[in-house]
Amino acid sequence: MSFLLHGVGVSEGIAIGHAHLASPATLDVTHYLLPRNQIDHEVERLKHAFATVRLELETLQASVSEGPAFAEFNAFIELHHMILDDPTLSDSAVNCIIQTQCNAEWAIHQQMEVLIAQFEAIEDAYLRERKADVTQVVERILKVLLGLPGYIPPPLKHDGSSILVAHDLSPADVMQYKQHQFAAFLTDLGGITSHTAIVARSLNIPSIVAMQHAHQIIYNNDLLIVDGSRGIVIVNPDKHILAEYRLKKNQLDLEKRKLKRLRTLPTITLDGSIIELHANIELPQDIGPVKESGAAGIGLFRSEFLFLNRDNLPCEEEQFEAYRVVAESMQEMPVTIRTFDLGADKNLKHTIHRAATNPALGLRAIRLSLAEPVMFLTQLRAILRASAYGNVRILIPMLSGDFEIAQTLQCIEQAKQQLREAHQPFDEAIPVGGMIEIPAAALCIASFIRKLDFLSIGTNDLIQYTLAIDRVDETVAHLYDPLHPAVLWLLSKIIHSANLENIPVSLCGEIAGDIQYTRLLLGMGLKQFSMYPAQILTIKQEILKSHLPLIRPLTKRF
Ligand code: PEP
Ligand code: MG
Repeated sequence: MSFLLHGVGVSEGIAIGHAHLASPATLDVTHYLLPRNQIDHEVERLKHAFATVRLELETLQASVSEGPAFAEFNAFIELHHMILDDPTLSDSAVNCIIQTQCNAEWAIHQQMEVLIAQFEAIEDAYLRERKADVTQVVERILKVLLGLPGYIPPPLKHDGSSILVAHDLSPADVMQYKQHQFAAFLTDLGGITSHTAIVARSLNIPSIVAMQHAHQIIYNNDLLIVDGSRGIVIVNPDKHILAEYRLKKNQLDLEKRKLKRLRTLPTITLDGSIIELHANIELPQDIGPVKESGAAGIGLFRSEFLFLNRDNLPCEEEQFEAYRVVAESMQEMPVTIRTFDLGADKNLKHTIHRAATNPALGLRAIRLSLAEPVMFLTQLRAILRASAYGNVRILIPMLSGDFEIAQTLQCIEQAKQQLREAHQPFDEAIPVGGMIEIPAAALCIASFIRKLDFLSIGTNDLIQYTLAIDRVDETVAHLYDPLHPAVLWLLSKIIHSANLENIPVSLCGEIAGDIQYTRLLLGMGLKQFSMYPAQILTIKQEILKSHLPLIRPLTKRF
C-alpha cells in the first residue's frame, strides 16, 4: 500500500531507496533486586559498560578526522564524553545500585531521568534539546549492559541506496552512517536545531526529522521516496510517482553538477552589475567549504560560536589564533568578524548569564560587550592583532543608536592604543561596520552611515524585532514573514540610503541564501549577499540570469 508521511525537512534533496530500520532504542529496562553478595559485581558491570562506551566514542572520534562536519562532530563527541563523565550519571548510578540493591540497567535508567528532568527545567531551548544527547549516551550504556550488538547496523545494500529510518539518532550515529553511505535518513524525533539536524545539513544528505511514528509505520525494505525540501516521504509509491521522482532527482543531480562550473565565474548580472557573494561561518574549520564555494570573502564570522560550549571566557591569545587562521587562509579577501553576539539564545555556560523575562530584548550582543569592557577589549585586541595577517573587518551586532556607536568606537580606539603601547602590529585603518537588525537602527540609518565604514543587514533579527515574533518560538513561526510590507519598507530604506552615500551594505540573514528573495533584493539595489557556503552557487546562478533594469521597477513601490 502506498501512503505519504510528513515531517520537518532539515536537509534538501531527493533520495529513492529501500528502508533500513535501525534497532529501536532499548530503554524498556526491567527492575530486579540482587542479593547483597552480588552488589560489587553489579557495580563492576556498570563501570565496565561506561569504559566500553568511552572506548566506543574514542574510536568514533578517531575514525572521523576531516570533512566539513568534522568540527560539529567533534563537539558532539566531546559533549557525549562530558555526559559520560558527569557524576550525576555515573556516581549516582553506582550509589543507586549499592543503596537499593537494584540491577545496573535500572540504576542507569533512573539517573538518566534525573538528568533529563534537570535539562527540561532549562529555559534556553537549545540547551533543553541536549537532553536527547543524555538519552543517546544512556542508550549506548544500556546496549553494552544488555549485550546487544553495536548501535549502527550496516546497510542492507552497499550501493548507497538504503534509507535509514530510526526513532532517534545521535550526531555520532549520523557520522557513521555517512561512512556506510546511506542515501537519506528519517527520524521520529528531532527538531530543526537538534544536533542531528545540524550534522545532516553539513553532510548534505536529504533528511527529515519529527516524523512522529514513521519508525513504527515503515517496514524494513519498503521502497521510499524522501523529498527533503518538502519534508515528505512517499512509502511504496506507485510506478507513475516513482518515475516522476526519478526524473526530478536526475534533474536535481544534473543541476548540482552543473552548478559547480559556476564556481570560478565572476558574479555579474546580465546588464553587467557586479555582485559580491560572501560566506557565513561559525568556526575556522568552515573555511574548507568556503573555498570550495568560490565565495569572495567572509561576510559574517559568528565569533560567539567558537566559545559557546565552555565554562570560561577565551583568553586573547586563543581568540587571536582563531581569527588569524581565518584571516590568513582567506588571503586578501575580506574577513568580517562579528564581535560576540552573546545573550538571548546564545550564552556561555556559566558566565554572564542571568535569566531575563525577554532575553531577546535584554543584555545581548553589543549591550553585553559594553557592559563587560574587559571581555570586549580582549576580543577587540585579538581581532585587531589578526588584522595584521589579512583583510579583517570588525562588525558590531545589534547596535541601536548614536550612543552605542560612540561607546563602541571609543572601545576600539582604546584597544588600538593598548596595542600601540605594546608594539603589536595591526591595521590602523581597519573598517568598522554595524549590523542593522533593530528597527530603530533602520529608521535612523543616516546616523549609522555617517559614523561607520559599512553596514550588514541582519534580517533574522530585523524581522523578529519588526514583527514582534520570537524567531525561536515555533508557535508563532507562521507569522515570521520576510515579505511583510513593514520589513520590505525597512530593507528598501536601508539599502537605498547606503547606496546613495556609497557605503557598502551587505545582507547576512537567512534570506540572503534563499533563492525566492534574490531578485527582490537585487531589485532593491543590494550588491553584497552573505550566506552558508552550500547556498552560494544556487544564488550565483540566479544572479547571472538577472537583469537589473527589468527588476528594479518592480520593487519601486517599497
Ligand atoms: C541576523 O540577525 O540576521 C544575523 C545574521 O545574525 P544572527 O542570526 O546571528 O542573529
Ligand atoms: Mg542577529
